[in-house]
Amino acid sequence: MSKQVRVRFAPSPTGPLHIGGVRTALFNYLFAKKHNGTFVLRIEDTDQNRYVANAEQYIVDALDWSQIPFDEGPGKEGNFGPYRQSERKDLYQKYADQLIESGHAYYAFDTAEKLDFHRNDHQEKGKTFIYNWHNREKLTNSLSLSTEEVQKRIDAGEKYVIRFKSPVDEILELKDMIRGDIKIDTNVLDDKILFKSDGMPTYHLANIVDDHLMEISHVIRGEEWLPSMALHVLLYRSFGWEAPEFAHLPLILKPTGKGKLSKRDGDKLGFPVFPLAYTNEATGEVSRGYKEDGYFSEAFINMLAFLGWNPGTEQELFTLEELIEAFDIAKVGKSGSKFDAEKTKWFQHQYLIKSEDKAISELFIPVLEKHLGNSFDKNLDADYIVKVVGLIKERATFVEDLWELGSFFFMAPEAYDAKAAKKNWKEGTADLMNELTEVIATISDYTSETIEMTIKEWITSKEIGFGKVMQPLRLSLVGALKGPHLSDIAFLIGRDETMARIRSAVEKLG
Ligand code: GLU
Repeated sequence: MSKQVRVRFAPSPTGPLHIGGVRTALFNYLFAKKHNGTFVLRIEDTDQNRYVANAEQYIVDALDWSQIPFDEGPGKEGNFGPYRQSERKDLYQKYADQLIESGHAYYAFDTAEKLDFHRNDHQEKGKTFIYNWHNREKLTNSLSLSTEEVQKRIDAGEKYVIRFKSPVDEILELKDMIRGDIKIDTNVLDDKILFKSDGMPTYHLANIVDDHLMEISHVIRGEEWLPSMALHVLLYRSFGWEAPEFAHLPLILKPTGKGKLSKRDGDKLGFPVFPLAYTNEATGEVSRGYKEDGYFSEAFINMLAFLGWNPGTEQELFTLEELIEAFDIAKVGKSGSKFDAEKTKWFQHQYLIKSEDKAISELFIPVLEKHLGNSFDKNLDADYIVKVVGLIKERATFVEDLWELGSFFFMAPEAYDAKAAKKNWKEGTADLMNELTEVIATISDYTSETIEMTIKEWITSKEIGFGKVMQPLRLSLVGALKGPHLSDIAFLIGRDETMARIRSAVEKLG
């Protein structure tokens, strides 16, 4: 890539960032880093009606947790700030004026009532009202009114907007890095408002002006902005500026593949659609987040990278570094990608089992504290927890699952699975278990291997089935017929505890 790569993620702070937004940020980041470029965060907060106070902080926190750091943005000033459009609002008017002067835009005085009237009138006739070349000469604007009349209205303080004057009878040839060549007939475009009567620019004007001033080389954004591309390219041309390259990312679809993934889908099917939990301050409604649901950001990012992109090989697990290395915008697909909550869990499971036992054990301690409360032994050997994690993590998806899988390593069973007890604790079991405690007491070098060997030899010498001993033993130690290798459990909890648990089971189960 010959030119200096500068890309931006330009969210509007209207609420929590949907995972689709994080995916857009991620692809921008990967593209920037792949090409030694700069990743900019720009907050597009010109629409005061939709502004939500805690949304910007949410965006920053979400990028932070996802480990997609921006190089320039609010709080990380570079040479192109400020990075909040509300702090740039004074600079847009002159660009709107420039387009009026060059004849690429015009003042429009049509009142909201008048426009509503036209819309309704068209609708009744089964048509759609579009403000553009075919009717603009008949509406109330600086194309239909005399220069004096326009000036008079402006001087009188009449409200106006500035509209773009779309060209007539032209086939625009656009290029998208993902979609290839796109042809658009300019006659279908409407004359979009660039500058509003409240003195604020619209998204279109502010976005183009800022992309130009911030020297953005590539615009990578969601597919929902594809219909705006023609206007944006025309705006660049009208200003006499070089346009950036464009890439419109495919939609993230509902698990059924029909329609865009929404918060409602997540609520209905039980998965989050936001990176972090979010509290809507107006309604008090709390939405779940990947972080709070126990996902590792690495798994979350890996999953997101595969929504719309794939490396073209069998490899599925990628660190962020590997993603940067492998990422190629040309390999992003055109069609929407179905969201798959099970696959997301699969990624999480993969990251959990490949993490160091020690790292997981540190995350497991707060879970233990939560469940055990005061009975959590603060002097518990850290190495003990690491070993437990090593024995059980294979079956876990989340750190929280480790409790369900291994609580018996930290407390003796309080009850026994009734069904399993009925089936496995029979006449004679108590005697066998008493005898087994004696056997366990005699093991000289107490290790997982010697425990297993000794018990097996003893069972063989008694000429009884293994299940007759092993199932009641498991019930005694675990409380249910689950858990890792029995001799590993007996070894880790220790000889005394093993014997005590067997005795206790004999007492309770008879
Ligand atoms: N502010 C727009 C948004 O909320 C930015 C679109 C773009 O990237 O051009 O998505």
